[in-house]
Amino acid sequence: MQENHYKVLIIGSGPAGFTAGIYAARANLNPVIFEGSQPGGQLMITTDIENYPGFEHGIAGPVLMDTMRKQAQRVGAATIYKTIIKADFSKKPFEVFSDDNNKYTADSVIIATGASARYLGIPSEQFYMGAGVSACATCDGFFFRNQRVVVVGGGDTAMEEATYLANLCSEVLLVHRREGFRASPAMLERAQKHPKIKFALNSVIEEITGTNENGRKSVTGIKLKNVNTNEVIDHPCEGVFIAIGHDPNTKIFKNILTLDTAGYIITEKGCTKTNIPGVFACGDAQDNHYRQAVTAAGTGCMAAKDAEQYLESQE
Ligand code: NDP
Repeated sequence: MQENHYKVLIIGSGPAGFTAGIYAARANLNPVIFEGSQPGGQLMITTDIENYPGFEHGIAGPVLMDTMRKQAQRVGAATIYKTIIKADFSKKPFEVFSDDNNKYTADSVIIATGASARYLGIPSEQFYMGAGVSACATCDGFFFRNQRVVVVGGGDTAMEEATYLANLCSEVLLVHRREGFRASPAMLERAQKHPKIKFALNSVIEEITGTNENGRKSVTGIKLKNVNTNEVIDHPCEGVFIAIGHDPNTKIFKNILTLDTAGYIITEKGCTKTNIPGVFACGDAQDNHYRQAVTAAGTGCMAAKDAEQYLESQE
């Protein structure tokens, strides 16, 4: 087992983690960033980001994240392509363990583990996952060119995915379980105005149907239920994109840090302190409300500054 010690150890590599890395490196704290199972975080699976300041014409999510990584590295942050699977904050220095069975110790830890896509939880969704069912239009939309797809959800992600897919696919049906939308008016309007996007409101997917011939699975449609009338109809399609929100990636901190009922890490008002002094949380892992790249980056900066202040107080 290999052991390494750091003053600041950052878990997660979205806008929060990289920003924390940039600030901690510039404060001469020689931070390390553990990139985790999805290096670059959720923006790696998004298309153009139009609301991150500094890019007049928007920027592609993967390009933004690659640039943030390079910026963090250039100012002195180390990045490691490993996932932290266990943490022990009961002793000092703090201990964390990577998926390849290495132990790392740190004087302070910044948690920036973000959130992951949520799924419907019906058996056929798992059965056809990767064979017609996806949670990422930018990753998989290409495979459904000129085909019929369904997008589930009523938030900005669903609108973004539907609009993206409408430019590739022959038709898009957006399925949402009620009439009101969480999506921002601008993104909703863009989807509503697109001639290829149709809406099925007050509707849920009961089952995803398909074929499985000699292990070759493919989706052929959905059973679509209207929750007001209970009527179920067959809607033919080749792809189903799930865009119903996210859950925080905080399982390894359960019973270690104080989490809210949805699993988000609770931080002190106005700062990134968790219930354990020296452990800080930023980005979507602790933000169930704003969940924006720019707010994640902002709290990443706060976490680095909070860690710096904490380390000074320990000297
Ligand atoms: P949201 O939580 O905003 O929306 C999730 C949607 O999925 C809701 O409409 C919800 O329905 C529905 N849903 C949840 N669970 C189920 C279920 N089991 N079955 C059916 N439907 C379900 O998540 P998003 O991922 O859309 O957005 C998260 C954040 O990211 C937001 O703040 C958003 O603004 C931001 N974002 C910004 C983008 C941009 O600016 N380019 C792009 C994408 C996201 P209900 O409303 O009934 O609860």
